[in-house]
Amino acid sequence: VTDNVAAVLHAPGDVRIERRPIPEPGPHEVLVEIRAVGVCGSDVHYFEHGRIGDHVVRAPLVLGHESAGVVAGVGSDVRRHSVGDRVALEPGVPCGSCRECRAGRYNLCPDVRFFATPPVDGAFANYVTIHEDFAFALPAELTDEEGALMEPLSVAIWACRKGQVGPDTAVLVTGAGPIGQLAVQVARALGATELTVTDVNQHRLEVASEGGASRTLDVSRTPLAETDVEADVLLECSGHPDAVREGVRALRPAGRAVMVGMGPADEMEIPMAVVQNRELWLTGTFRYANTYPAAIGLAAAGRVNLRAIITGRFSLEDTEAALRAGRDDPASIKPLVVPGAAPA
Ligand SMILES: [Zn+2]
Ligand SMILES: [Zn+2]
Repeated sequence: VTDNVAAVLHAPGDVRIERRPIPEPGPHEVLVEIRAVGVCGSDVHYFEHGRIGDHVVRAPLVLGHESAGVVAGVGSDVRRHSVGDRVALEPGVPCGSCRECRAGRYNLCPDVRFFATPPVDGAFANYVTIHEDFAFALPAELTDEEGALMEPLSVAIWACRKGQVGPDTAVLVTGAGPIGQLAVQVARALGATELTVTDVNQHRLEVASEGGASRTLDVSRTPLAETDVEADVLLECSGHPDAVREGVRALRPAGRAVMVGMGPADEMEIPMAVVQNRELWLTGTFRYANTYPAAIGLAAAGRVNLRAIITGRFSLEDTEAALRAGRDDPASIKPLVVPGAAPA
């Protein structure tokens, strides 16, 4: 490839394929030829609505933040990587000097530059540049496609860390989308054996069973409250108000509720008496920090099966179809854009 093709969002529902100059890496940056990009719910949300909360697409924006590729160029001061290295990209580069960064919570940096969050372009393109510290070498065991999924896998690892999931933890995962699926797999890899998953989509529940769920529940037929499910940790991955409420109610005393899924509204009802009477811990998650080495290690050791959630491959020219895949096909979990693929 000598060209840089990018799929650019101009307005809701309006993605255009454009040619752009290949970006120049800064002194500490690598130029990466993108080989695979996962489509995330946030990409779909920007595509459909042109905004997520306060983040509004005001200028043409390249979506995509779950990516891997090959180093195609290096800046003058780059030490970690050389041309030809295969890398997974951690898509948020924090400032490194603010209060949160200095405390190690760099995911909470107010000045982070995160792919596909306005005004920062993402990875639905042939080439991107990124700070060398946020490109992680991929071992031979992992494909480029698996490399792209280090990003959602990081979200799942972060959720399990927040919930302190271990071998003696009974885990309830509400929502079996891509993050819920990976949360199940990571919880199992961390030793959890009692793993209940809820969703309203039978296909997704089957995939969760294969991923290690010990029990699945279609809550469109049997509400959680009508079961005897109880858990030490709730990994809430649906954003649905009913799942939040019922999930919190299913927690044992001193349980931990980890809110990962994003709901339709800024505010939601929580059964506060349950939180108080059982001394529950309640936390949100915002992206992740220091998870890429663990993600790459887990995947390379075969402790998670990323291929199980990949449900489609689209060329860069067909990015719009990839963004529509979730609406078009109820069996879709994680579509990928593969720039090397031939257009449909
Ligand atoms: Zn994502
Ligand atoms: Zn910072």
